[in-house]
Amino acid sequence: MIPVSGFEGRRVALFGLGASGVATARALAAGGAEPICWDDQYAACSGAEAVGLTVADLTKADWRGSAALLLSPGVPLTHPVPHPVVRLAEAAGVPIFGDIELFSRERKRLAPKAPLVAVTGTNGKSTTVALIAHLLRGAGRDAQLGGNFGPAVLSLEPPAIVRTHVLECSSFQIELAASLKPSVGVLLNISSDHIDRHGTFERYVEIKERLPHAADQVVIGVDDPRSALIADHIEQDDGRVVVRLSVRNPLADGITVRNGVIATVAAGAEEAVASLDGIKTLRGAHNAQNAAAAVAVVRILGLDNRTIAGGLASFPGLPHRLEEVGRIGRVIFVNDSKATNADAAARALSSFNHIYWIVGGRPKSDGIAGLESLFPRVAKAFLIGESAETFARTLEGRLAYELSETLERAVAAAIGVAVESPEPESVVLLSPAAASHDQFKNFAERGEAFRTIVKGLGAKDEKAVDC
Ligand code: ADP
Repeated sequence: MIPVSGFEGRRVALFGLGASGVATARALAAGGAEPICWDDQYAACSGAEAVGLTVADLTKADWRGSAALLLSPGVPLTHPVPHPVVRLAEAAGVPIFGDIELFSRERKRLAPKAPLVAVTGTNGKSTTVALIAHLLRGAGRDAQLGGNFGPAVLSLEPPAIVRTHVLECSSFQIELAASLKPSVGVLLNISSDHIDRHGTFERYVEIKERLPHAADQVVIGVDDPRSALIADHIEQDDGRVVVRLSVRNPLADGITVRNGVIATVAAGAEEAVASLDGIKTLRGAHNAQNAAAAVAVVRILGLDNRTIAGGLASFPGLPHRLEEVGRIGRVIFVNDSKATNADAAARALSSFNHIYWIVGGRPKSDGIAGLESLFPRVAKAFLIGESAETFARTLEGRLAYELSETLERAVAAAIGVAVESPEPESVVLLSPAAASHDQFKNFAERGEAFRTIVKGLGAKDEKAVDC
């Protein structure tokens, strides 16, 4: 735990009692503050009370005398409308922070030169931070992984010069962390997302941009126009060197991935760092971008090419993202339950041929029509969940499908036809392109259900899962 100083003997309001809220309250209390905690959910409040935290209704509290409001990143700050506690804090002139802000202040106090890698982007953050931490640990470094992915930041070990913190930062966290100044800042990519929470795309971009702007060293994926523009701005305005990454276009300087080989480019001259060929946990162009980013970071932190190549090859991958969960003969089973929209499912469909595709759930507004160019990779679709009829209309006349309704039936039907395939390798792929909440608690529960069903078929486990 990282005890938080600066609030000794003072009352600090804290709203949002998920894992990070509870960890923040504990870290504040350990540093001598008096956190007063609240949440809209009764169960969260009673859970916090059970572990000894002080719980009181902040919507009825006297805000005078509160040193700060600590806000969980899931709570609306500005859009669609500010949460009532945000309005109350603002009215009382109480500053609003997130846990990454408290971490940044502690780092500044304890070890301002301690290595801090912060990663943001619309997609690929978790994979990238997990891979960076894995590579660092493979080189014998003390890497503390957390933030938006994994443990809450304040439950990690304190910053120290011999320890590297690797943090995933969502836009919500960046917005509440004005002091965040990473030693290496990574912006992977930007596409439209979470506009509901930030109001406009422009504002979302502006918030994401703060992280690389504040970093000592900067790594940016330049395959989308917004990120490319940000890289240019940082170089022109701040005169700093930006390590550019591309998996699509040649670069004069930076890191590229061509034919599965990650290479550095300096003044047009390429030097291979490592190959991604055959690394099952880093399949697909999207993971090539994540791997290139991780490689850029650990090179800055001093890892050599041999260690990097070994670390990439042993990366265990993350659950529910193109995760191979079993094999029966020439058929592999891949759990991509995290793909809750068409964009994410597109990455999975692009990563394989001869797919038996389990798709559906609670549909998103964009449906699956945008995936049509990838349908030739799919031998047959098996439709589950609420979206079955809508998705069937999109597939009609374009792709063979059947209505399976449940995941169990879909897997049984898919393996029934996949084993008959003459192809050297076929894939039963759960990549739903829809939310899980119609039949499951969340995407993780859906992915676990898939894993259990596949195991029940007697499929061989290809690898141990570890994140
Ligand atoms: P995040 O933490 O940003 O949500 P993850 O690493 O958990 O990202 O990946 C979530 C999903 O996003 C993956 O299942 C995949 O569909 C997609 N994805 C991952 N990396 C990228 C990338 N670099 N570019 C585009 N999409 C990606």
